[in-house]
Amino acid sequence: MRQGRAAVKVVRAEQYTPTAQHIIDQAAKVDAAVQGIPTTTILQLLKRRIEEREVTLLCLNCGWHTTMKVRYIPEQIKCPRCGMRQIAVLKYGEDPLRAYQIARKTKRKQKLTNEEQEKWQEMTQSALAVLQYGKKAVIAMAAHGVGPQTALRKVLPRAKTEEELYQQILEAERQYQRTKPFWSE
Ligand SMILES: [Zn+2]
Repeated sequence: MRQGRAAVKVVRAEQYTPTAQHIIDQAAKVDAAVQGIPTTTILQLLKRRIEEREVTLLCLNCGWHTTMKVRYIPEQIKCPRCGMRQIAVLKYGEDPLRAYQIARKTKRKQKLTNEEQEKWQEMTQSALAVLQYGKKAVIAMAAHGVGPQTALRKVLPRAKTEEELYQQILEAERQYQRTKPFWSE
């Protein structure tokens, strides 16, 4: 098992040398063809995986929150308690109560720590994405390595249709997988 994993890593490293990278960047279809799996199948698997993911929605205005599978989230998202459209998507396993405390602190104009400031920035960006793009934004941010910034700058503006959305997510996830090892080293 261990040996198998090591072998896979070596292959991946070779695949993603700088020369090969632009080819992969240019066409996800080429990459898929190499593996022998049609792009449409990959996108369908991706969709299924994301729809089964649980996300937590948090209203930055009143603190209402819910955790549910992506597939059950409505197209238009607003807070059932206060009616506002300031809904942030939290990362899996993130505590909504703790996150909302930051929102309360900003309302009371209390000073935030650097970490809280960062988190607040992320939550407001996330809420902005949900406000602009509805469920599409939730789908994007439920993917691996797709934060509010990537969602707003790259994934969502380029995704008019559902298929385009999953294509962009696939690209973003691949990008994340490619760059991750370099960051951790
Ligand atoms: Zn609310």
